Amino acid sequence: MIYLDHLLQATRGALQNAGTATQFTGFSHDSRQLEPGELFVAVRGERGNGHDYLLDALRKGAGGLLLEARTFSQLSEQMLTTLQTSDCALVVVEDTRLALQAYAQFILARWKPTVIAVTGSVGKTSTKEAIASVLSTRYPTFRSWQNYNDLLGIPLSLGRLEEQHRYAVLELGCDHPGEITELCHLVQPQMGVLTNIQPVQLQYFGSLDQLANELGTLLTALPKDGYCFYNHQDLLLQSMVNTYPPQQQTHLQPFVSLPSHPEVPVQIRLRQLDWDGLKFQVAEDDQELSLETIELSSHLLGRHASATMLAAYQVAIRCGFTPEEASLAIQLLQPLVGRLSPLPGLQGARLLDDTHNASPASLIAGLETLKALTPAQGGGRIAVLGDMLNLGAYEEEAHRVVGTVAAECVDYLIVRGELADILATSALQAGLDSERIIFTSSHEDAAQAVRNLLDNLPTGVEAVVLIKGSEETRMERVTEMLLARPWEASECLVRQTPGWKKTIFRHADRPTWVEIDLNAIGNNTHHLQALVGPHVQILISLKADAYGHGAVKVARTALHNGARMLGVATVTEAIPLREANITAPILVFGYVPLWQMREAIRLGVTITLYSSEAAQALSHAAQELDKTVRVHVKVDTGMGRLGIRWEQSEEIIALVREITALPGLELEGLYTHFAQADASDQSYSLMQLARFQQILALLEEQSLRPPIVHAANSAATLSLTAAHFDLVRPGIAIYGLDPSPEVRVPSEFRPALSFRTQVSQVKWIPAGEGISYGSTYWTTRPTKIAVLPVGYADGFRRGPQNWGYVLIHGQEAPILGRVCMDQCMIDVTDIPHVRVGDEVVLIGRQGEATLTAEKVAERLGTINYEVVAELLARVPRVD
Ligand SMILES: *Cc1c(COP(=O)(O)O)cnc(C)c1O
Repeated sequence: MIYLDHLLQATRGALQNAGTATQFTGFSHDSRQLEPGELFVAVRGERGNGHDYLLDALRKGAGGLLLEARTFSQLSEQMLTTLQTSDCALVVVEDTRLALQAYAQFILARWKPTVIAVTGSVGKTSTKEAIASVLSTRYPTFRSWQNYNDLLGIPLSLGRLEEQHRYAVLELGCDHPGEITELCHLVQPQMGVLTNIQPVQLQYFGSLDQLANELGTLLTALPKDGYCFYNHQDLLLQSMVNTYPPQQQTHLQPFVSLPSHPEVPVQIRLRQLDWDGLKFQVAEDDQELSLETIELSSHLLGRHASATMLAAYQVAIRCGFTPEEASLAIQLLQPLVGRLSPLPGLQGARLLDDTHNASPASLIAGLETLKALTPAQGGGRIAVLGDMLNLGAYEEEAHRVVGTVAAECVDYLIVRGELADILATSALQAGLDSERIIFTSSHEDAAQAVRNLLDNLPTGVEAVVLIKGSEETRMERVTEMLLARPWEASECLVRQTPGWKKTIFRHADRPTWVEIDLNAIGNNTHHLQALVGPHVQILISLKADAYGHGAVKVARTALHNGARMLGVATVTEAIPLREANITAPILVFGYVPLWQMREAIRLGVTITLYSSEAAQALSHAAQELDKTVRVHVKVDTGMGRLGIRWEQSEEIIALVREITALPGLELEGLYTHFAQADASDQSYSLMQLARFQQILALLEEQSLRPPIVHAANSAATLSLTAAHFDLVRPGIAIYGLDPSPEVRVPSEFRPALSFRTQVSQVKWIPAGEGISYGSTYWTTRPTKIAVLPVGYADGFRRGPQNWGYVLIHGQEAPILGRVCMDQCMIDVTDIPHVRVGDEVVLIGRQGEATLTAEKVAERLGTINYEVVAELLARVPRVD
């Protein structure tokens, strides 16, 4: 509870409107999450400014507003009237962050709880919660909220501190140098708890030593009669404590954890480690630990929970608990949501949901718990892992280290994300069978991979699925899809509030971006496979960075959903795919110059041949490198592009014979390409097909038919079953786009790409003024325009025609004047309430409205292929 007079005293703020409330239930700095009766604090942040949301907070029922003088003095007359005639108390200060800190100091000094500060690299929140839960069995105890652990979060939490609270257990974040010092200055802890030192968030520190120094400042901040509890097993913590100046009289109280370290004079005996929790015994061999022989148990899972329990135990004893009381309180501890929380999954599987966040230490703890909780011979240990982020220069190394651990702890490893791929590759090198590693790009595919495994596990095998990744990777979505009772998601998973559900976590690094729905790619690949049947293979055409969609992720997703081969235009297009460890066969459709043959062989791609000269050069290169290279022969049946003309059947047969005889070459395929498969009239395609079949018959007569014969692009795949042969080569249909207005994808196919931007300025321009270069557009009335940060250098075409219109607020807004290189203007006179930052759709859906790539193409006088393939590389792709 926050009392208005306390707030005014603490912050020296000016009350600019009395409002009706004299007390508030708590602080809120996010109007999306605000509950009625709370005090809204307008905070300036890196991404946004809370002062922009004062009216929103008012509408949501805020009891008061805390805002800054510089904004208050600039409020419009109308806004001022609205605020000052409302029921809402209006407190104006110089700086809201400093005001919150002043309030925190004030209220701690006023109610005088004993402050217990918990910090360290990992396990802070669990330890804070455990200590608070244990203490609250006897005393009113306050705990900081979730992971609100910085100079903003702790004061926001302290809005809920009450007079009755005897203890305040606060988590102190450690994200940048100086933070612990500042936080200790703010909260003046009497007891400290140091969990461990691990390479987490090193991007802010550079080295572990610097991180240790920072955590060590907690020791110097404690009063002379204070207590500091630290994990005795953490060697870095130990050496830090040893360098701590001895003249300080603070009591140091080591606690221990499993597995016990050989150098530590204490014996911990594990009694039980299963789904009911952890039970262990600690026997003292040395006075240093001042522990009697004790036995502790709780419902927390995993060995590493021993440190949490012992920290809570020691603190409880220090706070006056008897050993019996402390053990009883610890027995009640339960896993927190998202932290190794056991949940019932599909088909009787057990889920171990650890999706709150991930760091190397916590991931290793998770993997070891997975291993400990499942029978060794079962074969049902599954880990679904996303990226670990914010590790600075240590990032790749961290994923490699964890990969090695994963190889020992899991039977199946499913990864999602670019860094997680590194982890999987390292697990492979450490000996995990490649068949047991599944690479995915979307949450849906990751969940599907688990379902497939569950379907195929032998009966009687107990399946356990660990799900984990950094906050930004939103791996709780995977858990949600695997829950036995999905309707319980909002209670048992992290980040289920409406505010969170809407948050896109990985922001594009520009306000103009392309969004790729990988789930649509997976879905389209599935539908296409169903359409061609199980005996026809799918090769996905990934030319031009997958038609602008991003080749690596599309390739992964399509391969995961049944595609067998990949197709690219040039040898260089294969490089990023191989670098991403994609091992599927890749056919290069286009010309490979003789000097590039070696590179092609090194990449292990399949080459298209149509001349004896190229065949010989390729054979030489293959022999020199001591490799075999697969080749496909290309026949031109009427496209008039690459390939040997079908009339020269003897030349075709001669080349096929030659290839069969040349060392280092393996003839795998024969193919042709249609010129008019996308037309409603099929006669030309049927003619090409007949020519191709004639060549095939000749080859078959001489037993020269290669194993993979193919002809169909998307259009032929959809409309000409006779052209399917052994494999089809769809491109456009996989992206959910129509091959042509005559040949469309079936309605179950979904477009994967959308192209979006945000309004950069809104303003009125009087009638009779020109807009953009050349002033080709003149306003005929007072016109409200919105400026957009997108132009032809993004692929948003200028001429001969431009897009014509875009979508904003679900309505069509015409483009005014010429499109510039990086900007353009649209007319929003008739669309109310358009503001800076509003989303604009250039391709895709908005509310009920859609602007498809097909519509844009029609307007530009081209085809959808060109529209998407021309979205340039400077536009970031997000998925
Ligand atoms: C581009 C291409 C395809 C795919 O064409 P879509 O019309 O996108 O399905 C297939 N085969 C070859 C040789 C190609 O060049």
